[in-house]
Amino acid sequence: MQVLYKSTRSNSQPITASKAILRGFPADGGLYVPTQVPVIEKPMSELAQMDYQGVAFEVMRLLLTDYTDEELLACIRGAYDDKFDTPQIAPLKKVGDAYYLELFHGPTIAFKDMALSILPYLMTTAAKKNGSGKEIVILTATSGDTGKAALAGFAGVPGTKIMVFYPKNGVSAIQERQMVTTVGDNTRVIGIRGNFDDAQTSVKQLFNDRELVEEMDRAGMQFSSANSINIGRLTPQVVYYFYAYTRLLKDGVIREGEKINFTVPTGNFGNILAAYYAKRMGLPVDKLICASNSNKVLYDFFGTGTYDRKREFILTTSPSMDILISSNLERLIYHICGDDPDQCRAFMQELNEGGEYHITDDMRAQLSDFVGGFATEEETAAQIRAAYEASGYVMDPHTAVAGSVYTRYREASGDSTVTVIDSTASPFKFEGSVMKALGQDTSLPDLELAEKLSEIAGVPVPKAVSDLKDAKVMHDIVCDRDEMKEEVRRFLGL
Ligand SMILES: *Cc1c(COP(=O)(O)O)cnc(C)c1O
Repeated sequence: MQVLYKSTRSNSQPITASKAILRGFPADGGLYVPTQVPVIEKPMSELAQMDYQGVAFEVMRLLLTDYTDEELLACIRGAYDDKFDTPQIAPLKKVGDAYYLELFHGPTIAFKDMALSILPYLMTTAAKKNGSGKEIVILTATSGDTGKAALAGFAGVPGTKIMVFYPKNGVSAIQERQMVTTVGDNTRVIGIRGNFDDAQTSVKQLFNDRELVEEMDRAGMQFSSANSINIGRLTPQVVYYFYAYTRLLKDGVIREGEKINFTVPTGNFGNILAAYYAKRMGLPVDKLICASNSNKVLYDFFGTGTYDRKREFILTTSPSMDILISSNLERLIYHICGDDPDQCRAFMQELNEGGEYHITDDMRAQLSDFVGGFATEEETAAQIRAAYEASGYVMDPHTAVAGSVYTRYREASGDSTVTVIDSTASPFKFEGSVMKALGQDTSLPDLELAEKLSEIAGVPVPKAVSDLKDAKVMHDIVCDRDEMKEEVRRFLGL
């Protein structure tokens, strides 16, 4: 079955996966969605015999149907190699009542590596397949983790340039250091005065800036996106849901066909949307538990059917989830309104103009798989402490948001279905908040704090952190939102 991709906002001609990856998003401001969701035919017990790369191939070939097997295998082999610090790529750890799927063993110790280590391969392969011959310019807004993971993926990749904008005061100290120490002539990192939503909105405007796009075209360049709106990000994320399931099967925790729950710490709704697609592709999943921090727009949405972004933006200890406009939710909205682009466009217009929209009862009825929850800052810190005291396991604040939401869901619902919690970052990436939650002295310099955390958690300091010690600052530009376009032109030499 050939899977094609079309816009959530209009009935324009569907295009191949490689074209959708190359373009990033359609010109009408929508997002690409598959015209049909393929269903996996291989039994889970067969996938359980495969390694991560094997499972990745079986899942991704169903979604990226215009890539040849050879092309896809080359992408997978290039991405999931010893950049990851374990051959399991995404190990599953039992802690208390739940299984934590550790998605942070890649080069930048956050789950974005799962997709961003393969995206450059998918994109350069797509450029070759489609004979575009143009230089690809990646423009990215980041709440912290995407930036470094995208930089790590694209730095030094021939035929590409990458530019990252981050909220100057909205990322952790380690996150900022990771980004501004990036080497590579094709990279540029810029802090902006504003929050993540400001950065993301401005980047979207730049993508759709006619004048800029034409200037670039004349210079032989084209924009693409490494944000989670690119289906080249979404597709690799579907893989680890299958992987987690098949590991539980292999270990005899579940029987073939038995349903499990997933709990996902959520910001832009990309990760949990991948779980939703995995379910539609035939993975036995019951509940998708969507965990938010104090920016609980999604919790309110699942509870009431109203999406309302008109509220205060709260800076939390889980900054990668400090988001009020969850871009990928648009794809879910499109599907639950019966794949109707007109209705979807109308909702997005309401959001854009009035800051809110209300879905219909019919649409709400289709959300019964989703459970919304949120954790306050106190609950997040309490979860880090409680897990450590009970089992010696140290988790990062994003993961702790999910852990806390899951604990309360399990108590309130009595649902004891086997549950996997996505562990989206290494505790070392957010060591200040983690050590504070554990009641430790946090006045030490970053790297000494990491050593201390290493002793407490009984795991070595990841290379991504120890390497920062001698790294030189390569990027120091800070600008206002309205200066971003000029910065892009300067970087591209236009
Ligand atoms: C990006 C990120 C999230 C949120 O993922 P979404 O796909 O945006 O919902 C959660 N935790 C960490 C550590 C992240 O980097």
